Amino acid sequence: MSDSYVIAPPAQPAVPVAGGGLFPVRRIYCVARNYAAHAREMGADPTREAPFFFTKPADALLPVRSGQVGRFPYPPATQDVHHELELVVALGAGGADLTPEQAAACIWGYAVGLDMTRRDLQAEAKAKGRPWDIGKAFDAAAPISEIVPAGGRVLSAGEVVLQVNGAQRQRGDLADMIWSIPEVIAYFSRYYRLMPGDLIFTGTPEGVGPVVPGDRLDGRIAGVGTLALEVSGG
Ligand code: MN
Repeated sequence: MSDSYVIAPPAQPAVPVAGGGLFPVRRIYCVARNYAAHAREMGADPTREAPFFFTKPADALLPVRSGQVGRFPYPPATQDVHHELELVVALGAGGADLTPEQAAACIWGYAVGLDMTRRDLQAEAKAKGRPWDIGKAFDAAAPISEIVPAGGRVLSAGEVVLQVNGAQRQRGDLADMIWSIPEVIAYFSRYYRLMPGDLIFTGTPEGVGPVVPGDRLDGRIAGVGTLALEVSGG
């Protein structure tokens, strides 16, 4: 008796790589409050005590190829969807209990990502002590650019800018991250065995805010690339 699938297997989530090829995705980890000014705008006290995390499902990715404009469907059951522009790190290797030096060697590439958030549902979850999933882990909640191979670079600086309808909404610099990329990877590896195919959304700078159908979003991270989206539906 063969153990064949009883329904068609779900598609393997993947992100196009600049220059060709597809990066298959296993898990998406996201860092919260990794920029002090954003932590303060969310009413939190930024400290280096310990980073904290949430996840999104891999099939929440919305890949957008370079030079194209992706269509982000305004999600259901919300009146307040926010943009959070973030550097995404793609891991080509993994492990557990990594040192920051070992963690840096796991970096395969980088992308520009948006941690789209149903802020009203997240705020309700926070107030009731519930998990954030309903605010963070919905369909198409993770728009992402093509992945650029790292080529050995460990990014520690670079401007992060998001425009909405041509007006600047978010601006920051990777140098302002509370936890560096190798520190984030190393910290994660104490709780999970990281694997090739894992993505890490590294947190957003200040200036998060709402989007509405018809909005055009243009994100850019120096040394990585751009991500263009239009919000549809509603
Ligand atoms: Mn975020």
